[in-house]
Amino acid sequence: MVACFVVSFLILLGLLALAYSAYYLIQTKRVQNAEDRKGFRTAVVHRLQKHGTKGFDFNKIVEECEVPQSLASEVAEEIFSLMLAKSVLDGAFTEVERKKIDRLAQAFKIAPDTGRTIEERLKRKHYVTAVEKALADGIITEQEKEELKLLRQNFGLSSSLAVELAADRAKDGYLALFRTVVSDGQITDNELKELMRFRDAFGLSIQDAQAIVRSDAHSLYSKVYRQIISDGFISEAEQEQLRRFRAVLGLSDSEVSQIEESLKRKHYTGAVEKALSDDKVTEKEKEDLKTLRKNLGLSQNAAAEIAASRAKDAYVSLFRAVVSDGQISNDELKELTRFRDAVGLSLADSQAYLKPEAEKIYLAVYSRCVADGAISNDEQEQLRRYRFVLGLSDHEAAQLVKKQAIHIYREIFYEICQDADIEAQDEDRLNRLAANLMLDDKSLAPYRVDLEEKKRLSEFRRGNLPSLQTRRILESGEICHWIGDCTYWWQTQTMAKSVSGELLVTSERIIFTSPYRSFELRPSKILDVQAHTDGLTLKTSVTKAAGDYLTNHARRLEAVLIGVVRKHKYLQTESFSATKTRHIPDTVKREVWARDGGCCVRCRATEYLEFDHIIPFSKGGANTEKNIQLLCRGCNAIKSDRI
Ligand SMILES: [Zn+2]
Repeated sequence: MVACFVVSFLILLGLLALAYSAYYLIQTKRVQNAEDRKGFRTAVVHRLQKHGTKGFDFNKIVEECEVPQSLASEVAEEIFSLMLAKSVLDGAFTEVERKKIDRLAQAFKIAPDTGRTIEERLKRKHYVTAVEKALADGIITEQEKEELKLLRQNFGLSSSLAVELAADRAKDGYLALFRTVVSDGQITDNELKELMRFRDAFGLSIQDAQAIVRSDAHSLYSKVYRQIISDGFISEAEQEQLRRFRAVLGLSDSEVSQIEESLKRKHYTGAVEKALSDDKVTEKEKEDLKTLRKNLGLSQNAAAEIAASRAKDAYVSLFRAVVSDGQISNDELKELTRFRDAVGLSLADSQAYLKPEAEKIYLAVYSRCVADGAISNDEQEQLRRYRFVLGLSDHEAAQLVKKQAIHIYREIFYEICQDADIEAQDEDRLNRLAANLMLDDKSLAPYRVDLEEKKRLSEFRRGNLPSLQTRRILESGEICHWIGDCTYWWQTQTMAKSVSGELLVTSERIIFTSPYRSFELRPSKILDVQAHTDGLTLKTSVTKAAGDYLTNHARRLEAVLIGVVRKHKYLQTESFSATKTRHIPDTVKREVWARDGGCCVRCRATEYLEFDHIIPFSKGGANTEKNIQLLCRGCNAIKSDRI
């Protein structure tokens, strides 16, 4: 491990030493080169100054200075370039200068091709510098234009080459000039001329120039156009401005009309929205919109389309505001009409807007109207108004109600009948409801069976109890109200025990008889009775008889017991669980019904429904929406409330 580390370290050191040696050698060589070059250069310049090109022997100097041939040619070309650059510096290249340069090339042993190349390069460079100088202030004056032309001619540069050389600079220059020109959103006559002069100076065609500003064209034209139509009017002068922009930007006709159309629509839409903002359109607003449309040159169809789409949103929101209280007043009806007139919305169109929700809205209103079993004249009128605004014909509405009648009936039936004592007026209300909904006997049959049973139990609870025959010997005047098989479960100190026997409820006693255990109890000893689906729980003021009684007819037995107890101590039954749970507020029932979709939350059954306390009332569960669910009797039995 350690050895390995030491070896690595040594290798690293070795590499570092090698790298440094290489670096040192290169540096030394570079210094040597630079000194050679400097010495040679000085010698050449000195000899030239002293003797001129006559009698100048380049090869001899090379030998004397002992420099390699490649370095010698390099230095020769460098000096040649400098002299040449001096000659073209004034923008002219005279015959005298040319002869002098040719002689120099000869003396330096520079090949004619190489000489030409260097000359060409310097001329171009000089020309580009002149262009940059002329462009520095973003404007090309007549004088600058002439000067560039002269320079080009002096140097014998072709015009196409000159354009090419200036092109990159010219592009940047034109774009910069253009942006300055349009920065105020206007193009004046002078600016137009300036742009033209610039193009001429650099030989840019109008197409070239348009291509240069292409990236700005779309957004710039949009901006200018938006600005121009912001007052809803396009003057002659503004027309001229738009023409100038189009010419300079080179947008195609179709591009221009696309931009303009979309901005016109946007502007018009804004005006329509403003006019609609208070949900009313006055005569003046109507006229203003018309004028705006004409000024913008917007087609009638386009305007109508815009108005319609905005009007739709506004109308639907007005309608929602109108019906938010579940009513359409006479004033509201007029307001809806006024709105339609103002925006030129036909009744049929307005009804079409509401179509998707029309049936749902009408059914909700109808349900509310018939909930009490009757439809008053006022309610008739309300329904008529809803039909009118929603665009439902009387026939359609009738069909709709017929189709949904059983659903409407079901909801109200369970609201009325849930565990409650059924009174004559409740039955009357249900009968009128069925008549209003035109429900036939077949649809009503299961509800009638349910209702009859509920009525019977209500009677039992009130103390109107049945008299049954029994072979048991009763006391004189004692009447048998209940007799049936029953399994009694009770709790000892350590376990639950059960025994099957017979339960008898009379006007005076509750008697349980079985082979192992029998007892009887006065009704006044009963503190509470609570039915489950498969039996009931009895609380008593004495130890015996308290417990659970399993029977197939728990609710009937419960009703009989309550009826008997009530006769013996009327007030106490008011505190019984069965009495208390009945008081689920109607609003809670309605909310639970809507939330659970009017069916059993476990099996989706739609009949024999009950509002079930999730936490039983006897165990402190509240009569609130959160603690109540819809269950059918079957599911309620499975759940059982012995939780
Ligand atoms: Zn169910």
